[in-house]
Amino acid sequence: MLALVINCGSSSVKYNLIETTDETDVCRGIVERIGADKSIVKHETAGRKPLKYNKVIASHSEALHEIMNYLLSPENKIIDDISDIKAVGHRVVHGGEMFKESVLIDDVVKEAIEQAFDLAPLHNPPNLRGIEAAQERLPDIPHVAVFDTAFHHSLPPHAYLYGIPNRLYRRHKIRKYGFHGTSHYYVSQQYYKLKEKPKSQTNVITCHLGNGASITAIKGGESVDTTMGFTPLSGMVMGTRSGDLDPSILFYIVEKEELQLNSLHSMLNRKSGLLGISGYASDMRDLISKAKNGDRHCQQAIDVFCYHIKKYVSSYFGVMNGCDAVIFTAGIGENSPLIRKKALENMEYLGIEIDEKKNNEAKPGTASIISSDSSKVDVMVIPTNEELVIAIDAAKVASASDQSAWI
Ligand code: AMP
Repeated sequence: MLALVINCGSSSVKYNLIETTDETDVCRGIVERIGADKSIVKHETAGRKPLKYNKVIASHSEALHEIMNYLLSPENKIIDDISDIKAVGHRVVHGGEMFKESVLIDDVVKEAIEQAFDLAPLHNPPNLRGIEAAQERLPDIPHVAVFDTAFHHSLPPHAYLYGIPNRLYRRHKIRKYGFHGTSHYYVSQQYYKLKEKPKSQTNVITCHLGNGASITAIKGGESVDTTMGFTPLSGMVMGTRSGDLDPSILFYIVEKEELQLNSLHSMLNRKSGLLGISGYASDMRDLISKAKNGDRHCQQAIDVFCYHIKKYVSSYFGVMNGCDAVIFTAGIGENSPLIRKKALENMEYLGIEIDEKKNNEAKPGTASIISSDSSKVDVMVIPTNEELVIAIDAAKVASASDQSAWI
């Protein structure tokens, strides 16, 4: 089944057209800088030269039209008719407590996504804008919402409750939700398949290390704890996000720096993390190259990042009473042998031994084992594919809705 995956940010629309039966990417692309003087449009189609051009694109709705025109244009011959697309899957970051799984989008679902605006102000509003633009352009096709939070619905109360008055949870649903669910789910599934392990008897720790980063403990196939919390700001230090802080620091900063709440929000989300510590960059490649030239602050940012990985991975061994595999994924996890090595060195006590040669030779884009033969715990690099999870879920939900129409 041909499924279109849409991932909308505040000024971008990313898309993937995926054939779910054989899990192949037919075409993918992005419209960036929507609303700016010149938006950037990129399309990559299997077996063809990538296409990149500038065009004025004022809204998410115009971006969707641009994408559909490309897919439908007779010279590109990607699809003949809009009805070739059987499902549209939308990435929605925050599903609150309501959504345990992917759902067919109707007015009630849209209202629930809107109700979660306060919980994910940077993500849910553009996600909903994307849904509305896509529904307008593809009105007769089922649209499905796939939530970043859904995989973490299995978290037990002792993992999701914060130490604050319980009425705040009851009134405002303040609790840990967890994010990057489709990625943690995907790489754990790949591990069970590759190693032929029964998921019910397997414990894994998945490290999604990109600009945003989170680590999840998955016991018997279910997420039992994860580092991100009420919002994607908490847990380990990230590109520009602070990760966990002593909450008293916030009162202290507001007082000492005379900051408004919105400036504090922006500082913690956009100016902190690796960028904040290094004072130089949020991008790990830049930090590594500058640290090699002796920059102490860039080295400290790398040290903090790796220490956080070690700390959370170790604690999840205790949470699950042991672990079969640690899996690295996303931009940094898939591409940086240095970070993988530094994060998991001196962990032989827990049964983790990295093989330096295998680690250095792991090819980006392919699944590789990087632990030594004597390591009790498998350490693997597994490329993530969140879009495929969204496409498959969208196809499943769309087929089910199609069948129920006949009942
Ligand atoms: P993502 O958000 O998954 O696209 O990941 C982006 C992060 O991956 C950025 O910090 C990049 O610097 C980092 N990254 C990509 N390639 C490499 C690499 N070869 N070595 C280190 N970090 C990398």
